[in-house]
Order: sequence, then structure tokens, then C-alpha cells
Amino acid sequence: MQPVYRFAPSPNGYLHLGHAYSALLNFEYAKRTGGRFLLRIEDIDQGRSRPHLEEAIYEDLAWLGLEWEKPVLRQSEHFNFYADAIATLENRGFLYPCFCTRSERNFEDAELKDPDGAPLYSGKCRMLDDASRAEKLNAQLPHVKRIDMKRVREYLSSTLVFEEFGTGSAGRMITAQPERWGDAVIARKDVPTSYHVSVVLDDARQGVTDIIRGADLLPATDLHLLLQALFNLPTPRYHHHDLILDSDGDKLAKSKGSKALRDLRAEGVTPAEIRSRLGFLEK
Ligand code: GLU
Repeated sequence: MQPVYRFAPSPNGYLHLGHAYSALLNFEYAKRTGGRFLLRIEDIDQGRSRPHLEEAIYEDLAWLGLEWEKPVLRQSEHFNFYADAIATLENRGFLYPCFCTRSERNFEDAELKDPDGAPLYSGKCRMLDDASRAEKLNAQLPHVKRIDMKRVREYLSSTLVFEEFGTGSAGRMITAQPERWGDAVIARKDVPTSYHVSVVLDDARQGVTDIIRGADLLPATDLHLLLQALFNLPTPRYHHHDLILDSDGDKLAKSKGSKALRDLRAEGVTPAEIRSRLGFLEK
């Protein structure tokens, strides 16, 4: 089977060295294995995504020497597809509407944190009686849709396992623990989907077999496995690579003013220098 790789950036900032590393790793793996390389624009966050940043992604990746299949899938063009899939989970009784505001949530179970460090949701809206829930829905109160984790785990009691492949070395099997996310948000207030749902559905419909992405997304994979099982989709292999750190040992981030690839380019840095800095051998 021909392997399929993808790089899936969000156009909410300029790409930095960390993105370059991820994109190049996927691209090089595809080349080495005779696989396909896809680019996907993850722009469900309409408040933060910008067309000029999407253009900059194409420009920066082309500058690095990458080529990808066209047309490129843009998630913002597929909200109905995600919403329909979410409706199937809702119809099966796996989701519930949550009307809590951010401050209410933080006040709740502040002691218990999810893997991202956010307070674990207490389940307050799960406990609403049918009449109060219907009343709030009829009043069209803004709400997210959360997964009823306990219920889902009762339904899907089997162990969820994925292969984490290494670079060169043998892979290892990891048991997913989606429970540690609690009643995670499956559909946001502003858009009828979430990162987790869109990424899982798109990886499956694009036939992605091997997902290479940063180690910061390793905990999210637990939820992705759960969703794959619920949607009856195959589980790809994963490789979560080390993050590229700045000279202080911190993760590169737009918010911390890490240099964008285009800043490096403006300073005269060449694609070959970027590749060698990231440990890729010359073409
Ligand atoms: N869109 C995500 C990001 O830019 C990456 C998603 C993924 O690789 O699964 O962080």
C-alpha cells in the first residue's frame, strides 16, 4: 500500500522553523517510501485564520523546495461534512450541549487538569435534566457539544492502541487514554466542529496512513483514537517528533516572537541552510 503523508498547518501565523521541520520530515518520508505528500489547510478557526497567511504557507513551503498534491483541502470549505458526522455521534447519545461560560468552567474542577493544563470540565451540563436542557436549547443559548466520556468508554471498552514509529528505529505500541481529557469539546460554539473531529475525519478521507507531527500533539492522539473508533475509521501510524526549541530551550511560538521562516529568508538564509540546521542531509 502506498503510504500517504500530510502537513496540516493552521494559517494563523507565519511558519517558523518548527513547521519547516515537520513539513520537511513528512516530505522526505514520502520521497523515501514512494509515498504521497499532501498539504491541508486547517482553518476552522475563522477568527484567527487569514488569507494572506495561507498564501504565505504556500510561498514558504515552495521556497523550501516542497511540492504537494493539488487541490489542497481547506477545512473551512467542509463545515457541513464535519457537522453531519458530529450529528451521528449526537444521535447515538454520545454528546451533550454545554452552556457553561469560561469563568464557570474554570471555577469548577480547577484541581483536575487535562493534558493541555486546562481545568477538567466538571460535567455540570451533563447532569441537567431533560426539561432544563430543552429550555436552554429552545432559548438558543450559545453552547458547545461535549463528549460524554464515561458513556463512550462504557460503550467502547476495548483498549485503544496506536503505533508510534521512530525515525529509523522500531516503533512502539502506545495505549491511548482518552479519559484524561474528560468530557472534551467536540463541536465549538463558533463553528460546528473542533480540531479533533476535523483532523480525524480528514486524515481518514484523504487516506493518510502515516502522521508525522510535533510531540505537543501526542496527548491529543488519545482523543483521535477514540473518535476513529466511534466513526469506525482506520487508525494511521504516528510519529510525534521532538520540538525545535529556541536558544533558551523554549518551544518556538509566534506569541514569543520566534523568527518566521520569511524573516530568516529576508536575512539571506537559504533553504539549504535551513535544511542543514534542522539536520536534513543535502539533496
Ligand atoms: N493544524 C495543527 C497545527 O497547526 C496540526 C494538526 C496535526 O498535524 O494534526 O498545529
